[in-house]
Amino acid sequence: MAAIERTLVLLKPDAVARGLTGRLVQRFEDVGLKIVGIKMKQMDADLTRRHYFDLEERFGKGVYDATATYMQQGPVVALLLEGVEAVANVRRMIGPTFPGQAAPGTIRGDFAHMSKAYAEATGKAIANLVHASGSVDEAKYESELWFGADEQFDYPGLAERYVF
Ligand code: UDP
Repeated sequence: MAAIERTLVLLKPDAVARGLTGRLVQRFEDVGLKIVGIKMKQMDADLTRRHYFDLEERFGKGVYDATATYMQQGPVVALLLEGVEAVANVRRMIGPTFPGQAAPGTIRGDFAHMSKAYAEATGKAIANLVHASGSVDEAKYESELWFGADEQFDYPGLAERYVF
């Protein structure tokens, strides 16, 4: 069972406001990933800091502030997904950070096109629709940050029978 993982996905405020929630959730369900947690939440300064605790260190205060504004501009939908090597598979499905570099077929490549140069020139955050945990360790931290024990579910899904 070592390869069965759980990973955190956020449908960011641009995805929710654009009415893409259903279509994006569908993509994850389509590949057989199982929803084991789901909720809508308005992020505040504290949750943003805890979720992106190393972002300022990695990219500087300007990027952190722009990202915090972006993430708090409206509600997000948080998903906890379970599946085979779910962390890497979900990252593969969402594509790279900058939508302008994301291939068609990925979520960021199919639903956005902002480039790094544009973001830098305008001081805007990269509106890239989704967040997904970057590693198994990050997935563990983020799952606990976003979902209490009573909000994480265990149930048999057909995916186990046919996909896992
Ligand atoms: N971000 C940004 N500009 C940057 C770097 C990051 O706006 O130069 C935002 C962007 O929304 C990104 C998030 O901060 O998705 C987290 O950055 P990370 O490098 O962790 O990218 P991800 O894991 O989301 O691909």
